[in-house]
Amino acid sequence: MKKLLVILLILMGTSLSLAVFFRPDIRPGYGVTETKWLSYYFEPLEGTNMDTVVYFMDSGKAGPTFLLMGGTHAMEIAGTVAATIFIENAIVERGRVIVIPFSNSSGASIATVFYPNQPDHFLQIQSKSGPRFLVYGDRNTDVNDQGRPDPEVYLHYPSGQELPGYESRNLNRNYPGRPDGTPTEKLAFAIMELIKKENVDFNLDMHESDTPDNYDIVNGVKVPGGRLAYMLVCHQRGMEIGALATMEIEFNYGVSLKLEESNIQFRGLSHREIGDATGSISFLVESPNPGFDFIWREKPDTLYDEKYPLKHRVGMHLATVEALVNSYNMMFGTDLAYSNIPNYNDLMQKGFEAYLN
Ligand SMILES: [Zn+2]
Repeated sequence: MKKLLVILLILMGTSLSLAVFFRPDIRPGYGVTETKWLSYYFEPLEGTNMDTVVYFMDSGKAGPTFLLMGGTHAMEIAGTVAATIFIENAIVERGRVIVIPFSNSSGASIATVFYPNQPDHFLQIQSKSGPRFLVYGDRNTDVNDQGRPDPEVYLHYPSGQELPGYESRNLNRNYPGRPDGTPTEKLAFAIMELIKKENVDFNLDMHESDTPDNYDIVNGVKVPGGRLAYMLVCHQRGMEIGALATMEIEFNYGVSLKLEESNIQFRGLSHREIGDATGSISFLVESPNPGFDFIWREKPDTLYDEKYPLKHRVGMHLATVEALVNSYNMMFGTDLAYSNIPNYNDLMQKGFEAYLN
């Protein structure tokens, strides 16, 4: 009887905790051939808010494997929306694409607390099949999922680099992670495991920053912001591919991206650690999100801002995917190909809503 009660209590506990997990709305198209939980690659994530869905789009034909990541920082919605549009529309014709639209699911599960004057957690839009919500989450893992208060100083593993305590919950300061670390370190470790086991040849991590119109006030002096916006950061093995890609984007769409080599001093970032620890060549792109200009924008419109609308930012991310794939193929003589994805001009004409199921 006592045993039965214990089992019952465990079951109740499980169902209660499962009920609160955040699961974003993704409506896969015909191109998705398989889905797996990230915990497939590292089991301890299973049944936690750190687990997330991985979408496989396999042509069944020879070609390289490309990993596309959105939602490393869940408030950077151009990345999550670009990844979602890929999953809901693309048909991979040769080679294989793996997509993680919400890389830090815990961050997506809460409204952002990182900056003031931020958009709502759920933003309603009109998709092809009616009203739908986009997620504007937080930059970091929910402190409740991390399960401990932030340390005073965060020591990156394994470099020992010192960062502010809150960065311990930033997925993009936790690579390569470790199996016995914090939940955020475990998440980074799981993504590294996926990259190794699936032999990912190259990868893109999609981000957003403040806009070039932003500024900060430091000791009473106005300092221009937006340095990261319109930037493509490349692991050193990816510099030539990145250079070719930025030229292609400028030529095709008139959007100019700055090319930057990943700094070897800054540890824990995807473009640094993935490229160092695996054979996968890593890239990171930054689009300008008006939501981050919190110093002077009181009510930023992250969806329909006149100068930096979401369609422009999603178009920029998808143009980066297109150009990186073309440049990778050219450099290595490979053939990765996909169809049925809007290009930058399509998005600017029809809006991102036209490509969400
Ligand atoms: Zn970011």
